[in-house]
Amino acid sequence: MSEELRRAELAESLREVRDRVDRACRAAGREPDEVELLAVTKTFPASDVALLADLGLTEFAENREQEARGKVAEFTALRPAAEARWHMVGQLQRNKARSVARWADVVESVDSERLVEALGRATANALEVGERERPLDVLVQVSLDESTGRGGCRPEDVSALADKITRTSDLRLRGVMAVAPLGGEPDVAFATLSEISERLRRDHPEAGEVSAGMSGDLESAVAHGSTRVRVGTALLGGRRLTSP
Ligand SMILES: *Cc1c(COP(=O)(O)O)cnc(C)c1O
Repeated sequence: MSEELRRAELAESLREVRDRVDRACRAAGREPDEVELLAVTKTFPASDVALLADLGLTEFAENREQEARGKVAEFTALRPAAEARWHMVGQLQRNKARSVARWADVVESVDSERLVEALGRATANALEVGERERPLDVLVQVSLDESTGRGGCRPEDVSALADKITRTSDLRLRGVMAVAPLGGEPDVAFATLSEISERLRRDHPEAGEVSAGMSGDLESAVAHGSTRVRVGTALLGGRRLTSP
């Protein structure tokens, strides 16, 4: 597809997604600017990220460290002056902390104390050698079903993990993230997440972000207080089964 066609296609789907978010906000009595749109660009090329940046998006997310690393570098070469913040939203192994600390502005998938320690060390190191300029924003990923197989800590572990993050210099606790359980009722899951967020903010008022809602369930997430929807398919189209 030519770049101009792709640009027109992305502009159209961006308009539709913004419309959905606006309508969901209105239905919930919220202002549209309370909900940030995070473009999940996994499996799509850096050229698409560049077009989305041209269309005014500034927040981008990836779920695999290795794919992200190359794409961020490519995007930066394509649009050196663009304002962009990169979010890691996928399960992260501790041995990737060093690398993720070089490119990520936010890690949304923090779900264990050992990962907090690894990210703290990696961020301190990256700051020291000039590979990054700012502390790392982090969200605690919460699992809303019984399993932690798709990542996320148990709801009862959020508080201890949050305390650990705030004791780690160079990490900044910003809030919570969750994925609605497969086959479950998103309204039930996002209502639970909202309660977890409220509890967290009692001890950590600065941790107000609620990253929830994807292409299929963003309306439900916005109704339950999401401050950041993570949209892939509805923005960029269907993904192939494996990443390039
Ligand atoms: C892929 C992904 C998304 C986006 O999902 P879509 O259904 O394509 O909008 C959101 N969050 C996470 C953690 C993801 O891995």
